[in-house]
Amino acid sequence: MIAKVIVDVPSQAVDRMFDYSVPDSLAKTLVVGCRVHVPFANRPVQGFVAELSDSTEVPKHKLKPVTEQLDLVPPLTEELLQLAEKIKTETLSLHVAVLKAMLPQAMRAKYKKILTVTAEINKLDPLLQPYFKTSEDVIEWDEWIKNASENEIKSAVSSLRKGLLSAEPVVTTKDAAKKRLVYSLKEESRQAMKEAESLQKKAPKQAAVLRFLSERPNDKAYTAQELSEYGSKAALDALVEKGWLAKQETVVKRDPYEGREFESSENLPLLEDQAVVLGEITAAMDEKEHRTFLLRGVTGSGKTEIYLQAIDRTLKEGKEAIVLVPEISLTPQMVNRFKARFGSRVAVMHSALSKGEKYDEWKKIRDGEVDVVVGARSAVFAPFTNLGIIIIDEEHEASYKQEEAPRYHARTVAVARAEHYNCPVVLGSATPSLESYARAQKGVYQLLTMENRVNDAVMPSVTLIDMREELRTGNRSMFSEDLLDKMEERRLKGEQTVLLLNRRGYSTFIMCRECGFVPECPHCDISLTYHRTNQALQCHYCGYRETVPVRCPDCDSDQIRFFGTGTQKVEEELKKQLDGIRIIRMDVDTTRTKGAHEKLLTKFGRGEADVLLGTQMIAKGLDYPNITLVGVLAADSMLHLPDFRASERTFQLLTQVAGRAGRHKKTGEVLIQTYSPEHYSITEVKQHDFLSFYQKEMQMRKMGGYPPYYYLTMLQVSHTDLHKTVQFTEKITDFLRQNLSDTTKVFGPVASPIPRIKDRYRYQVMIKYKIEPQLADVLHELMVSLQTDIARTDLQVIIDTNPHMMM
Ligand code: ADP
Ligand code: ZN
Ligand code: ZN
Repeated sequence: MIAKVIVDVPSQAVDRMFDYSVPDSLAKTLVVGCRVHVPFANRPVQGFVAELSDSTEVPKHKLKPVTEQLDLVPPLTEELLQLAEKIKTETLSLHVAVLKAMLPQAMRAKYKKILTVTAEINKLDPLLQPYFKTSEDVIEWDEWIKNASENEIKSAVSSLRKGLLSAEPVVTTKDAAKKRLVYSLKEESRQAMKEAESLQKKAPKQAAVLRFLSERPNDKAYTAQELSEYGSKAALDALVEKGWLAKQETVVKRDPYEGREFESSENLPLLEDQAVVLGEITAAMDEKEHRTFLLRGVTGSGKTEIYLQAIDRTLKEGKEAIVLVPEISLTPQMVNRFKARFGSRVAVMHSALSKGEKYDEWKKIRDGEVDVVVGARSAVFAPFTNLGIIIIDEEHEASYKQEEAPRYHARTVAVARAEHYNCPVVLGSATPSLESYARAQKGVYQLLTMENRVNDAVMPSVTLIDMREELRTGNRSMFSEDLLDKMEERRLKGEQTVLLLNRRGYSTFIMCRECGFVPECPHCDISLTYHRTNQALQCHYCGYRETVPVRCPDCDSDQIRFFGTGTQKVEEELKKQLDGIRIIRMDVDTTRTKGAHEKLLTKFGRGEADVLLGTQMIAKGLDYPNITLVGVLAADSMLHLPDFRASERTFQLLTQVAGRAGRHKKTGEVLIQTYSPEHYSITEVKQHDFLSFYQKEMQMRKMGGYPPYYYLTMLQVSHTDLHKTVQFTEKITDFLRQNLSDTTKVFGPVASPIPRIKDRYRYQVMIKYKIEPQLADVLHELMVSLQTDIARTDLQVIIDTNPHMMM
């Protein structure tokens, strides 16, 4: 038997299957989808068995055997293997990168470096000789350098260079499961009880342990720690010795939600709108037909309740459900709603879990112990085998696009999986992405709409505050008079405020504080990016460049500034302005430690602060009845990012955060501070008018030639040498122009908005097209032609076939 293996070597040159013979010892157990160890270029690497076959082109004497099988149950199902090929082609990723992305991190291979002697030992520096007493001895580099002396390290490095030592990477795939030792009773309870009596005098602790265990079910096992109340480790070992207890290693399941009580909940009687929506979804289930629904429902319209009931229906049919939620809204509140309805049938996967916890949650899915997973982007790869529905909440969120290889979008993956299982996908949002809404308009997705909040809760009233006006009246602080007054008013009433500092885009654009003027590119209608390195403003779509103006070209004011403030500064200012105000600040700094996010929210929920101040991460998922005011500082800071989605993101964020106010009985109010009060991405928030925003933004996209009217592909080229970076980018641009059709536009070479990261210069090329059937082939051919340069110099070329980050 021959195994066709995808090896874990990140190089285009070996991005294909390699043949290995399967030794007899593995012939019965090895199946497709298993991880294996194989020798590759004389070193052991991890690989995935993609196919098993009985033929090979490789001559017999050259065929090497699989050295080890790592999984008895394959972690990748046939369906996932097929899916991987599809993603590989669509995103131009390495095959192995896609396969690894489908698995929990704990299952990915680790490689450690091992030094071996290649010459005779006595030729080696005497300093190093003691480490190689026998021919079997090796140095485990990563461990060794922790204790080695400086001279030893120097000597080792020079010996490596001279070829006296050689460094080999060795694959070490750690067992991802957590194990522990447990004790259990070996004899019958009655006898153990008797023994306890006779031990009572001489060994009271041993007696206590036996008594405790004989009063419990016989097969129950406990750790030494759990038994420490009754007897020490020594007492336990004595009992093991005498044959009363068994001591074993067992696999422990880490349950990050263990010990927590979840109030159980049941399906609520649906409102009319909800019933209609659910009816459409269940109809698709009944017809066993794949359909993608776009559910646009305002914040608080009861979308989550629909998800819950659609899942309930799926489970009743014996099928499984995947629910994707953006990372930052995977709050305990959100998780609780699923746990309350489906209890221990739910696995939760998000980045706050440790590697081990993630592995355990994944394993519960693979072993069929759960049938629902709620998780961030990568949960779309949950190894279910009988999927009945996939739900993507807040489908417009940028975090569904992975920004490293493989650059997949969870939405695309979800649709591909649902097609395989003939089941529905439900995309939900109050502010769908333009791409999705356009698809719904064309009938590719089926549109479902809910315009009203549950229980007729009114949408909060939104007021725009023109910060230019504030400045004119002499208020130079970051807070308008109105916002301060209203925050104080809330505090006196014992109600709460959410204060959003929209901080993305820190100092990357400049703006006139007098009139709100932001310099834009004359060719692209996109704001210019400030480049610190050369003190210039530049368009990163077409390369246009100008110097930073000293005075505003529009109103001649000298108040032209780089834009950006930090949350810390806001907190200090606010404390100065409102004496004694209690603030909880939530940003990357205060939420770095595990569980911090949750603790802060719980505190806020208990009313221990008047204000929750934070960045983007507070805009989602909060559902506290006492929030009656939402304030937004610098609503427009994102608007001027050099990104064609800037308006869309601004509208989405503002709508989201506005939705935090007045979700329950008390009505809410939203104050948005802005320097661009006429911009449609801000004015349409006032009316909660998605449709009007959509129409205006579609016009802009049409004029600018952006998605959803055109497709984009971006190539990011980087190199440590600036001249070479430009040269390679030029070569790439020429190649693309020559090989793509005339209707396709190739823009470049252009310096990236962040022109150098970690001493690497970055240039980019953008491809805009409507129909380009050759694209994947041309790009593949391009990568193959660059292969030698990539291998020999430090050239790097990244292709993103659906870019979401333009920096
Ligand atoms: P969304 O996900 O659209 O923001 P939710 O599903 O969170 O909306 O619903 C908002 C609030 O209304 C929640 O507190 C939820 O429990 C409640 N709710 C939803 N559907 C119903 C219903 N049919 N009857 C009563 N309350 C409901
Ligand atoms: Zn001005
Ligand atoms: Zn431009």
